[in-house]
Amino acid sequence: MNINGQRLLSNVARFAEIGKVGEIGVERIALSEEDKEARDLLKTLMLDLGLEVHIDQLGNMIGIRKGRKDLPAVAFGSHLDTVYAGGRYDGALGVIAGLELIQTLNDQGVETDHPLAIINFTNEEGVRFAPDMMGSHVYSGQAKLDDILVSKAYDNPNETVGSQLKAIGYDGALKPGSIALESFFELHIEQGPVLENEAIDIGVVEMVQGIHWTRYTIEGEANHAGTTPNQYRKDTGYASAEIIKFIGDYSRKEENPVLTTVGSIRYEPNTINIIPREVSFTVDLRSTDKEALNKGQIEIDTFINKAVNESDLAVKSEVMVRFEPVHFPKEMPDLVENTAAGLELRSKRMPSGAGHDAQMMNHCCPSTMIFVPSVNGISHNVEEYSKDQDVINGANVLLNAVLNRAKQVS
Ligand SMILES: [Zn+2]
Repeated sequence: MNINGQRLLSNVARFAEIGKVGEIGVERIALSEEDKEARDLLKTLMLDLGLEVHIDQLGNMIGIRKGRKDLPAVAFGSHLDTVYAGGRYDGALGVIAGLELIQTLNDQGVETDHPLAIINFTNEEGVRFAPDMMGSHVYSGQAKLDDILVSKAYDNPNETVGSQLKAIGYDGALKPGSIALESFFELHIEQGPVLENEAIDIGVVEMVQGIHWTRYTIEGEANHAGTTPNQYRKDTGYASAEIIKFIGDYSRKEENPVLTTVGSIRYEPNTINIIPREVSFTVDLRSTDKEALNKGQIEIDTFINKAVNESDLAVKSEVMVRFEPVHFPKEMPDLVENTAAGLELRSKRMPSGAGHDAQMMNHCCPSTMIFVPSVNGISHNVEEYSKDQDVINGANVLLNAVLNRAKQVS
């Protein structure tokens, strides 16, 4: 069975009008006015499709199409929020393809044993409110609703998740996670260059990398750059250079399965003629291998402690994020791979380098993701673009994989 490609693309364009930036970009920050507008449109379209619409206490939106039997729902979706100056596909594609899937089944009079559920998760991007993947985090029972509702906006401590849900009218009544799910599929753009470079249509996502984020603050002593001989310095800038080189080299060792990034650094007082008193920097470690990730963390911590001690400095570290790698149950990527082959699409099994709602949902039901190519591997950018045919291919794989799981009966 095939979806209607033109209808899918025109819905993608319709949602992209909400928070439009430039020619093809979108800025729709979670719990903003634009988010409300996109949610309202989604709700209208869900109701038009005859779905039963539920809003949970965290604003997750769930549209249910009844099945022939009283069984858990086969679910699919993603998120309608974006980063600042983002694109029209990241997240939205997974939700809009879900609408197209249901429309196709309605048009063709197809019923399924299992109910179907489209989900739009609240605040996947975590732009104004921590943590990211918020809606799926709570839905899958890994974070407590009450803790999340009091999360404050980074840019305005008077606004919380709870207050903003109320402000946009999406503080629903349903307890998150109370709709039982049989499985979860997330169609998403790859956000990397692999599929395009290798001319592959569909990425079959087997796992999502684990992520460790840590902030380190090294303390020394500010002093005059001209009058302080080296042996009297407590120079945090010099020490940090050695540490950052070690962290970068760690990832570049042959066959090292950990990616390392120092993406932000701040000196105090950050002046040309003063030895920096303090340096604070972040470390991002990623790997699909849990042991390697933990080992990398220990080796980097050990090196930092040693370097700091040898230079008579002090260090504090703050754990920001620890997500273990997630391996999707084999049956799910197998199904996506077989479905793509059945549609004569070229596919490749791959990990996801970025975090996604599906990794959270895998804690409550078997989950996986379907990737489509990103032109030049660009995302989180107004230049984000995926070709029409690639988007349509992805939606067709989603439709047929879901039908397999939900047991088409007519
Ligand atoms: Zn996304």
